[in-house]
Amino acid sequence: MRLARVECDGSTWLAAADPESETLRLLVEDTGQDGRDRAVELIAGTLDVPADGGRQVAFSEVTFLPPILRPSKNVLCVGKNYRAHAEEFTRSGYDSSSAPGGQSVPTDVIIFSKAPCSLTGAHDDVPVPWEITSEVDYEAELGVVIGKRGRAIDQAAAYEHVWGYTVINDVTARDLQARHRQWLLGKSIDGFCPIGPWIVSADQVTPEDLEVSCWVNDERRQHANTSHLIFDIPSIIATVSASMTLEPGDIIATGTPAGVGIGFDPPRFLGKGDVVKVSISQIGTLENRIV
Ligand code: MG
Repeated sequence: MRLARVECDGSTWLAAADPESETLRLLVEDTGQDGRDRAVELIAGTLDVPADGGRQVAFSEVTFLPPILRPSKNVLCVGKNYRAHAEEFTRSGYDSSSAPGGQSVPTDVIIFSKAPCSLTGAHDDVPVPWEITSEVDYEAELGVVIGKRGRAIDQAAAYEHVWGYTVINDVTARDLQARHRQWLLGKSIDGFCPIGPWIVSADQVTPEDLEVSCWVNDERRQHANTSHLIFDIPSIIATVSASMTLEPGDIIATGTPAGVGIGFDPPRFLGKGDVVKVSISQIGTLENRIV
């Protein structure tokens, strides 16, 4: 299943997407305004959806929203999880997490987070507060969506806790990330986490062999395979859940490959009007304009 949340004719719906026919079946209305997130309920198995589905609509008739609106906690993100990116980040001088002269490739998983207000749809504009940042960067990432609650999850059981996978652009204000030492502010700006266009259920994805790519205005900047993750998905889930209980609907961004803007000398930051496209094989594509 490809679980999407869309706006159609002024209403918000959970929907099952079919990329081949470019259509969706509208499953259940969900404004999210009653404090519930029916996508999380569906993922947790506590919401029954009609088996035969509802009205069929074309992609062109809807606006894609973030599939999940209210994860139980911030979007959890892995830092420096591809070797070549870890090295470019340390070289760039922007990496406040790395001690001077220290190793660029981490020996333990680095976890930071993005506030849920950063979540935005697959084709939404990304609004940059230019008065506080001039160094906006892109990070193409595989997103893991948790389906089953758990604490202290063994690596061997980790995939049982995954409902599915999605595409994330971990948009980052590098100047804020460096200036404030902690990454939260530079990562959590409203609209700085394009996600979607849907979550693909785990039965349809080979998570250890996915092509992750990113283009800026049709120039390919990032391209890697998830087989090159330093810390794989079971090891990330085991590490995070050793500290905190993971809940259905929680989102983990697994890290970005080499080729981000600060990897260039001089750095190539995003400007007004740039279009960033992030694509992951078997899953889908985000395309967002910087405004
Ligand atoms: Mg990232």
